[in-house]
Amino acid sequence: MIVVMKKQASLNQLKTVVKEIKSHGFQIHESHGQEKIILGCVGEVSVDKIQLIDHFSALSGVEAVRLISDPFKLTSREFHPENLVIGLNGIEIGGERITVIAGPCSVEEENESLKPAEIIKKAGAIGLRGGAFKPRTSPYSFQGLGKKGLELLSLARQQTGLLVVTEVMNVNQIAVVEKYADILQIGARNMSNFDLLKRIGKSSHPVLLKRGESATIDKVLLAAEYIIHQGNNQVILCERGVVGPTVTKYTRYVADISAIPVLKKKTYLPVFFDPSHSTGYRDLILPMSLAAIAAGADGLLIEVHPHPEKALSDAQQQITPKEFAELMKHLKKVARAIGRTI
Ligand code: PEP
Ligand code: MN
Repeated sequence: MIVVMKKQASLNQLKTVVKEIKSHGFQIHESHGQEKIILGCVGEVSVDKIQLIDHFSALSGVEAVRLISDPFKLTSREFHPENLVIGLNGIEIGGERITVIAGPCSVEEENESLKPAEIIKKAGAIGLRGGAFKPRTSPYSFQGLGKKGLELLSLARQQTGLLVVTEVMNVNQIAVVEKYADILQIGARNMSNFDLLKRIGKSSHPVLLKRGESATIDKVLLAAEYIIHQGNNQVILCERGVVGPTVTKYTRYVADISAIPVLKKKTYLPVFFDPSHSTGYRDLILPMSLAAIAAGADGLLIEVHPHPEKALSDAQQQITPKEFAELMKHLKKVARAIGRTI
C-alpha cells in the first residue's frame, strides 16, 4: 500500500500520518520526490485492514491511498514515480547521460587485463569492470585472482578515476569487495541467492543486479525488492540475456531487449544492458549495444580485453580497446538521436 502526501502537507501532518500507519503494524519506507512524498507501507493488508484505506485517506495531509497490485512494492514506479539517479564521485547513473562500464571479464595477472583502463576512460566510459571472484561453470576453469584482483582494480581506479564494478559471490566476500569497489555486482547465478541479497541490502554501496538466466521480469524485480527492503535502494538492474528456444550456436543467450522498456515502465531503478554475456560473440556487441540504447537503456556493461583471444574467461565475446573506442563513437550518434548524451 502507498500513501501519497499532499504537496503542501506539513512536517507535523507527515509525522502524525507515519505514526498512525505504524501503529497498525506497517513498516514505512519514505520516498521524497521533487513533487511529493510517498510512504510505502509494507505489511499484509488483510481483509479487515482494507477499511484502513478509508481511515488513512481521511488523515489530514493525505492526498491518496492506493494498493500496489504488483508483488514488488518498494521497487515499483508507483512508490517512486521519478527515475532514481545514483550519484557517485560526481557521476550520475540513471540520469539523462548514458553511462558505460567496460573492462575484462576477469582481472588477470600483472595488471595486463586492466591496461586498457586509460583508453576505456578516454573513450567515455565511467566505470571499470572486472571479476576478481569468478562464477565458472567448471571447477577447473580460472576462478579469479580474489583479493589480488581487487587490489589491481583499485590501483586502476587511482590511476584513471574510473568507478570500479566487481562481483560479490557470497556473503563472506562482501566486506572485502566493499573496501575496494564502488559498485557491488550480483551475477546472474546469484540473482536468487536471498541471503546475499538481504545482506547486500544493508550495504551503503550501490548494487548492479544482473538478471538470472531464466528469471522472469517479476523475479528480477522481487530480487531488487529483497535489497531495497533492507534499506539499500541504490540498485541498478542489468539485462544480460536469458535462456530460450532461439538460443543456437549463433548466440549464447537470447538478448531480451524488450525487458529494457518493460523494466523502465515497472520500476524507477536505472536499467543497464550487457551485450557481451547476452550474445556471447564479439561481432554482435556493437549492433546489440546500439539497440539497447535505442530501447532506453541507461547504461551498458561491456567486456573489453587487450588480447581477447588470450583471455582466461569469455574469450569469444570480449572486444579490443580499439573496437570499444569505435563503438563509443557509434553509441554517441544513437544517444544524440534519442535526446541523451553519453
Ligand atoms: C560478469 O558480468 O562477470 C558475469 C559473470 O556475468 P553474468 O553473471 O551475467 O553471467
Ligand atoms: Mn564474462
